[in-house]
Amino acid sequence: MLRSSVSRLASLRGLASNAARKNLTIGLIPGDGIGKEVIPAGKQILENLNPKYGLNFDFIDLEAGFQTFLDTGKALPDETVKILKEQCQGALFGAVQSPTTKVEGYSSPIVALRKQLGLYANIRPVKSVSGTNDRPCDMVIVRENTEDLYIKIEKTYTDPVTGTKVAEATKRITETATRKIATIALDIALQRLKQNGHATLTVTHKSNVLSQSDGLFREICKDVYESNKAKYAGINYNEQIVDSMVYRLFREPECFDVVVAPNLYGDILSDGAAALVGSLGVVPSANVGPEIVIGEPSHGSAPDIAGKGVANPIATIRSTALMLQFLGHPEVAKDIETAVDANIREGNIKTPDLGGKSTTQQVVEDVLSKLA
Ligand code: ATP
Repeated sequence: MLRSSVSRLASLRGLASNAARKNLTIGLIPGDGIGKEVIPAGKQILENLNPKYGLNFDFIDLEAGFQTFLDTGKALPDETVKILKEQCQGALFGAVQSPTTKVEGYSSPIVALRKQLGLYANIRPVKSVSGTNDRPCDMVIVRENTEDLYIKIEKTYTDPVTGTKVAEATKRITETATRKIATIALDIALQRLKQNGHATLTVTHKSNVLSQSDGLFREICKDVYESNKAKYAGINYNEQIVDSMVYRLFREPECFDVVVAPNLYGDILSDGAAALVGSLGVVPSANVGPEIVIGEPSHGSAPDIAGKGVANPIATIRSTALMLQFLGHPEVAKDIETAVDANIREGNIKTPDLGGKSTTQQVVEDVLSKLA
């Protein structure tokens, strides 16, 4: 299927909604554990969107995950990648179970998918809903998605002197990937400047210790900002060392707006930030690349509650909205977000992670009724 990369990239950034397509093929990859319960929730939201939006969806069920690995010997079947590449504009990915010890031949399918589909940015908005007891917080964490320690070049050997084991991992930061992530982070900051009247980009790093790798990340982010000063005029530019960033994130979350980080820090910061807004079950993400956007709840497969019908679907519903936003339908995304905010603000239909007694399906139905 041929696509215009330029208009696609523009619509990915939410800048060209009129160029966005109305007929969308969406891959559904539930994965493991509660992924199987929350991805149908995202599908239900899409299926029940008001006809006024004029959106039509075709869905394709796709396999990936630890169970798929156990069944077939491959965590990410080639067929899944081929269909995503050739047929889908968007996808929803649930979660994969991570075995705690090394399983020969298994590696995370979402990490592989991000690499194979060029999903260079993981966008994770973390926001509290006004009128609730949550700390005021409204930030977007923009995590580089393809490199850093996640290139998974590791080795273990025996130190010839001490005779004890040593394990090493390679951390890779490239100018190319850093330019891309800095650009999308600054573009998101620019949108927020227009919406909110102010915006700040915080570049997270540890270049006081990792002067070459994190030093390069910091240098390139700054260069992207400085070289496009006119375009990004009005955005405050900040840098923050990752350890003090964690401290400040919990002390004064209201200080952060758009945060850009290399892969590992971004992963940790966004899970940590989820604690500010009640539960991992409400924090969405979108994996964004030039050809496809994959919505993915920030949580994992939650084996402790899988199969009980009580997984919080809100992270997935918000990820569905994010996917639509980056596919060029910001108005639909906004309406879904407003319905979710109303559910959270009212607070009487909520899953146990938020202190309620409702089921996944009851929350979906409440959000759908608010959307209608
Ligand atoms: P994995 O091995 O897949 O990473 P995990 O249990 O280590 O699984 P998470 O799945 O992120 O990691 O879960 C962390 C905790 O948060 C668990 O107690 C889980 O039940 C809870 N949790 C995560 N997602 C949800 C959700 N959508 N609804 C309710 N609780 C959730």
